[in-house]
Amino acid sequence: MSRSASFRSFLLGPILAFGPLAANEVAPAAAPAAPAAAHAEHSDAPVSPAQALQRLVDGNARFASGHAEHPNQTVARRVEVAAGQKPFAVVLTCADSRVAPELYFDQGVGDIFVIRVAGHTLNDHVIGSIEYAVEHLHAAVVVVVGHEKCGAVAAALSSERGEGKIGTLLEAIRPAVRDTRNQAGDKTDNAVRGHARRTAKLIPASSPIVKNAISAGHVKIFAARYDLVSGKVDLLP
Ligand SMILES: [Zn+2]
Repeated sequence: MSRSASFRSFLLGPILAFGPLAANEVAPAAAPAAPAAAHAEHSDAPVSPAQALQRLVDGNARFASGHAEHPNQTVARRVEVAAGQKPFAVVLTCADSRVAPELYFDQGVGDIFVIRVAGHTLNDHVIGSIEYAVEHLHAAVVVVVGHEKCGAVAAALSSERGEGKIGTLLEAIRPAVRDTRNQAGDKTDNAVRGHARRTAKLIPASSPIVKNAISAGHVKIFAARYDLVSGKVDLLP
């Protein structure tokens, strides 16, 4: 099974049981004088978690295959979202210069609410940012994306303390290093996967707002891993 296929097959899971967002969600007004596009521009209508995830899956497939469409990056789109944002997804990922979510998910202005910090570690500011996007912007999925050859995770595998404030980053990653220490295979990659999964679990555990949104079926959280060479994002079971 290809990674793309495994990513898609994940969609057949229980998330499809979730319905659309609450009926009191209001679709925004149409974009002002949006020019006809050669490809389908995204609508900002409310989406279910399954629809939101599918949008990311489709965008990643375009990017990975070299057929990115760069949607929602027109002047008209800028004007449209200046009046208010309704991103359909939150992406928490590393600050690494090679892993920009707007690129690898082929999304445009106002589409995804991105939080980036080295090693995608959690703190109150990060959790508060996720809460804001879920509670007030009604994003339907939160995806924590680790990546191949993450320098922060690799440093956490070492015994180095980390100079300056770097040490606090490494300490936030080390629980996942300990969790995956005895797994077979590449230790860094095992820790990358373990840290993404652990981070995804910690978000609702740290936030009643996010936990309640999950319980209500308004949002789903996923862990994933980005491959630097293939450009593919795999959801982690
Ligand atoms: Zn990284």
